[in-house]
Amino acid sequence: MNDPILENLNPSQLQAVKTTEGYVRVIAGAGSGKTKALTSRFAYIVDRLGINSSNILCVTFTNKAAQEMKRRVKALIGDLFDVSFITTYHGFCVRFLREEINKIHYPKNFIILDAEDQKTILREVFNELDINSKNLTFKQVLRFISKQKSTSDYLGYMLDNKSFDPDEKDSLSSRVYQKYLDKQKRNYALDFDDLIHFTAFILDSSPDVLAKWQEMLHYIQVDEAQDSSDSQFHLVEMLSRVHQNLFLVGDPDQTIYEWRGAKPEYLVEFDRMFPDTQTIIMNQNYRSTPNILKVGNHIIKNNKVRVDKDMVTENPEGVEVVHFHGKNDYEETLWVASEIKEILKTENASYSDITILYRSNHLSRNIEQALIKENIPYAIFGGVRFFERKEIKDVLSFLRLIVQGDNFSFLRLHNHPSKGLGKKFLERLSLLAGEQNLSLLQALEKNMEDKELNKKGAADFLALVAALKIEAETNSISDLVKIILDKSGLSELYRKDGDEDRLENIKELVSSMLLLEKENNGPVNIAEYLQEVALYTDLDKDTENQDKVRLMTIHISKGLEFPYVFLCGFTEGVLPSALSIKERRKRAIEEERRLMYVAVTRAEKRFYMTDSEGFNFTTGLNKYPSRFLFEIKEEFYVRKGKLSPEILQAAQSSAAASKNSGDTAFSEGDLVQHPVWNRGKVVAVDSGKNQYIVHFFEMGKEKPIDFAFRLLTAASDSPEEGSSPADL
Ligand code: ATP
Ligand code: MG
Repeated sequence: MNDPILENLNPSQLQAVKTTEGYVRVIAGAGSGKTKALTSRFAYIVDRLGINSSNILCVTFTNKAAQEMKRRVKALIGDLFDVSFITTYHGFCVRFLREEINKIHYPKNFIILDAEDQKTILREVFNELDINSKNLTFKQVLRFISKQKSTSDYLGYMLDNKSFDPDEKDSLSSRVYQKYLDKQKRNYALDFDDLIHFTAFILDSSPDVLAKWQEMLHYIQVDEAQDSSDSQFHLVEMLSRVHQNLFLVGDPDQTIYEWRGAKPEYLVEFDRMFPDTQTIIMNQNYRSTPNILKVGNHIIKNNKVRVDKDMVTENPEGVEVVHFHGKNDYEETLWVASEIKEILKTENASYSDITILYRSNHLSRNIEQALIKENIPYAIFGGVRFFERKEIKDVLSFLRLIVQGDNFSFLRLHNHPSKGLGKKFLERLSLLAGEQNLSLLQALEKNMEDKELNKKGAADFLALVAALKIEAETNSISDLVKIILDKSGLSELYRKDGDEDRLENIKELVSSMLLLEKENNGPVNIAEYLQEVALYTDLDKDTENQDKVRLMTIHISKGLEFPYVFLCGFTEGVLPSALSIKERRKRAIEEERRLMYVAVTRAEKRFYMTDSEGFNFTTGLNKYPSRFLFEIKEEFYVRKGKLSPEILQAAQSSAAASKNSGDTAFSEGDLVQHPVWNRGKVVAVDSGKNQYIVHFFEMGKEKPIDFAFRLLTAASDSPEEGSSPADL
């Protein structure tokens, strides 16, 4: 049999492919061929059942994953079919709204707001309400808005002029939110959260539109269904009501978007909603070696809230998983670089077979530096190279302006943050600089009496540069950067934006300077430093060469696979994140553990996890390996690099301590026992304030109780008379 669509499928996959009618779900672990089954099913429906590909909707989460699905489908059925319904939820909604949004009297060319646009609106609102970053950050408001928009209640205000009724109606956030909505309305602008709600709203309120789309979509398939939120699930369920062909595939162990409203329950309890659901289980892994799989299986078993399932594989044994522990982060990343070279030398591999994963974007800095030093080409997936990031360039430009007074830096900075120096100013200055053969900075210094140039903003800028030059003489480079940020107003600008990624990147830059100073046993020469980092910024203009090592966050890597995977920064406080540890919620740690599981299960041939010692300037703590490392049996991996008994002990005791404290940490809905107020129920967990909001039954009131209050204990469902708080 030579059948490209059905050959190479195992019996469960064949069953999934051929069970095209009705409600069907596949629950299976990573690498078991879920996406393969889903894409083969799409091809089968088109090629064997004769259904037009534009009658099949196929949704997933990230653009990368949607592209990968399209690629696989095209490989099976060729390029001639319309695959535009293989898309993300957002992609589908945009397409729907471009056709149907006039039903709610919005124009078809409505505006879609990206994160930057949202901030532009917030900037206006903050000005109007006279709010500054001390009261509230953009990030906090955006989180608030997203939370309010996790249900469609707000649409009444937005579309029907009903009264405005969010949570905490009188709070500052909610005032900002109302103005934000007003501006959205006025401009016919939709943010990402609106896309799905508007779509559902039109479908819910226009029976003819609903019928049209229901008729059209004969088959609906959802990949990564464990990460669907209420509104996303509602959307596909509603669209499938006429033909009743809904196919969900997913792995509850890979739920990594709970923080954004993912509800794995829809997948897990699908059969309760649709009693004739057919369930297909796959437990053979085709992706990874047994050594890699053992580590993945072993880690995820530590999650309490899960259905146990073990993956097996017939793949050849492969090499052992490696943990490398470095003395500092140079050692960690240089080891990664040298291992990459070794792989290229000894295996039949190219750079693009290798992927480096990390928990959050700012961690790419030291990895990038090592790769550049070692001449290893790399590309960042779904992000910008560290030294190309806007805020990093701002700071480096200031250093350059102080040392070299160059025009590029001048152009970048003279009106940033804004000092009201416009186009005319610059034209005049350029003219004079040309005539007098001076740099822009020198020309300004010399011609301040000129009418066009004599402005307060210009005088302020010159004074700033002069002051910074003096500071540069006596301060270390890391201190100088802090002074620059402060005096230039950049710090305030970033803080105002509330863009924590930006602040994290800057902290990362400063901490890399501190490390350098420590290594040097003294100050670092600014000019030499700039020369070195120039290397990091000028490289890699050759986008032609696609053979590069890939760097990405674990979130971006979901659904993808790579022969060789390095997980860097496998450090407590990074993975699991400091925030998840601080929250002390079991659920938060479990989500971090699932992230770890996703990372491990991306690897086909080899998996490496690395960490290093030193001081983490971001968290203010000494670094040690992640608690998850100690959840893996030692015989399941080999250790390279020396882990001293002290570090080992510190890491283990911290892991044990947080494990114990985790036992008294509660989630929303948990019943608790208080020494004075007796039984209550946790109605909210406020991690910003480190408090639970507990409703105490006897008192009939809610009280905020600190996370750290150890006399609050778990209560069983059936109260025991006189039970005293246990486990003190
Ligand atoms: P994830 O949970 O990470 O999304 P998945 O379950 O979607 O994983 P796939 O990406 O579909 O898994 O498949 C993993 C790898 O196994 C792919 O390289 C795929 O081609 C291969 N594979 C899947 N099924 C088979 C099979 N029956 N025979 C051979 N190879 C297979
Ligand atoms: Mg998949």
